[in-house]
Amino acid sequence: MTTNIILLGPPGAGKGTQARRLVEERGMTQLSTGDMLRQSRNSGSDMGRRVAEVMDRGELVTDDIVIGLIEERLDADRTDGFIFDGFPRTLAQADALAALLEKKRERLTAVIEMQVDDDALVRRITARSTCANCGEMYNDITKPIPEDGKCAVCGGTEFKRREDDNEQSLKQRLLEYYKKTSPLIGYYHANDQLDRVDGLGEIEEVSRAIKDVIDSRA
Ligand code: AMP
Repeated sequence: MTTNIILLGPPGAGKGTQARRLVEERGMTQLSTGDMLRQSRNSGSDMGRRVAEVMDRGELVTDDIVIGLIEERLDADRTDGFIFDGFPRTLAQADALAALLEKKRERLTAVIEMQVDDDALVRRITARSTCANCGEMYNDITKPIPEDGKCAVCGGTEFKRREDDNEQSLKQRLLEYYKKTSPLIGYYHANDQLDRVDGLGEIEEVSRAIKDVIDSRA
């Protein structure tokens, strides 16, 4: 049995940052439906075109699409465990994930809610960018791009901001989170699978808190 966790939290809570650390340190596999959808839109496929508009508005794409993406990866990847980052986002997705894991005779080790207040989310999101080459994440305030203009990890010199990281779509993304995703907190709590970490601390501190949860549940 491997370690499988869900990182749950609003946009900007730090799910992606923490998932990347777990990939490096524990050999786990990050399954980010947001990343998969962005890849699909960049590929120019039919599906990519359909989801692009929805994403830019800050709304959720349909359950069928994201469940299909996750199912494909669960079947294809061999790993020491999955980190679900940005999935599930609805109760229907949560049920589908439970069924998919059961079919693979796997279980969820932990569901970790990353708690961050809304003001901090807006500050973080409007300041963030990533290296276009390796995906390393930067933040104008907490982790600026090095002064020489080169990515600290790969030396890349191109950085990009997400199309939906603006105040207008962020407002919609937060609404979607509270309306459709936050009920998952109660759902997993009732299943005795939920742990909470304070997502406001330093990256290192949050990372330690997440690892403590995983180790205590493994
Ligand atoms: P993220 O990178 O996780 O913030 O996701 C970016 C956007 O992709 C979201 O605002 C949604 O439009 C879409 N998206 C990502 N994951 C999901 C999901 N599990 N269900 C529905 N839409 C999703």
